[in-house]
Amino acid sequence: MSERVLTFGQALEEVLAHAQSSVVARRVETVALLEGAGRVLGAAVVADRDQPPFNRATRDGFALRAGDVGEPLRVVGSLRAGERWLGAALAKGEAIEIMTGAPLPAGADAVVMVEHTMVADGLLQVEAGRTLREGENVVPRGAETRTGNVVLPAGRVLGAAEMGVAASCSVSQVQVFAQPKVAIVATGDELVELDEPMSEVQIRNSNSYALAALVKAAGGVGERLAIARDTLGELRAQVAEGREADLLLLTGGVSMGKYDLVEQVLGEFRAEFYFTGALIQPGKPVVFGRLPSEKGWTYFFGLPGNPVSAQVCFHLFVSPMLRALAGRTEIAPVFVEARLAEEVKGGARMTRFLPAELSGGWDGVKVSVVGWQGSGDVVANARGNGYVVLPAGVEDFPAGLTVRVLLR
Ligand code: AMP
Ligand code: MG
Repeated sequence: MSERVLTFGQALEEVLAHAQSSVVARRVETVALLEGAGRVLGAAVVADRDQPPFNRATRDGFALRAGDVGEPLRVVGSLRAGERWLGAALAKGEAIEIMTGAPLPAGADAVVMVEHTMVADGLLQVEAGRTLREGENVVPRGAETRTGNVVLPAGRVLGAAEMGVAASCSVSQVQVFAQPKVAIVATGDELVELDEPMSEVQIRNSNSYALAALVKAAGGVGERLAIARDTLGELRAQVAEGREADLLLLTGGVSMGKYDLVEQVLGEFRAEFYFTGALIQPGKPVVFGRLPSEKGWTYFFGLPGNPVSAQVCFHLFVSPMLRALAGRTEIAPVFVEARLAEEVKGGARMTRFLPAELSGGWDGVKVSVVGWQGSGDVVANARGNGYVVLPAGVEDFPAGLTVRVLLR
């Protein structure tokens, strides 16, 4: 098998291109609105009426004709939210007391805030020198959306803001995409499951758990398969099972060691490899491709075994693919900019993604690298909340420099 090692940018492009072009729309399920929280909308939500449905007062005050401000106005009634004005249309020289959220009575074209008025003997006087624009403190009917307009497109995650929109459009049942199933296979002779006894030189299989949590956060359902020992037989068995999921993740066994057999086994299954490494650190051995399976093809990632490498590769490459499989339209990883809290030495030949702590306040967003023992250091990794991106070939990153940070 020929090696194909890409730069970070090329590798990401490759994943995004496959995610965008080869991933097909999925089965749609109908669930109660609140049960859809965090799921991906499988159908657009459409406005069931104009919003606002009437000319809405946005302040407590008085409905009037803007041009009447300046003269004393006769207060002819009062209107609360949820009520309709049943009297005659407002005439010149009249005002109606109105509450936030009430419909503007016919004849009125603005609302003056109660704070800017005085009422004495049934006569309203607006503060001297104050003028009012037509339409002031009123949102006209349909200004937010018109009946039948798409207010939430399919492919959007149903977060809190979207939930509010759906409820405002009377949607009690939402259509969401079925969640992709992700098979997770940890490989390694040294690995031991959580409930099994272990010797000093063995290692807990932590990757399967970290990855299952990442899968869940990205909108999939992780299935942890049994650990595969570094033998062709066990690897073949787990790949055969895992390729029937919607996505297959393997960790370990993709480096240059004598027992790193994952790529060989994938090759036996007639895998197509899109890259067999990326110039990133940690994560260089990462492998991406697809395998023939019963339903056609199944994408896979061979992630390095080192826990931080596996997680960084997940955020960079697996998340976008998983979001696409989950039906999301926004799939690319999100980077933010922050100022380095202290100097970091550069000089690496690969793009680095170091565990880092991002903190934000009114004085700006800062990031500081978490001290670590390298890509096996799960403890340091958990002290951070993102990864600072250090481009290749730069000798020094001084304190105060604006850098990119990968959020997690
Ligand atoms: P490998 O990529 O297989 O060479 O593994 C690299 C390092 O990651 C080794 O120190 C492994 O013990 C460790 N490792 C591999 N798989 C796991 C796993 N599932 N959980 C925790 N550590 C792992
Ligand atoms: Mg290994």
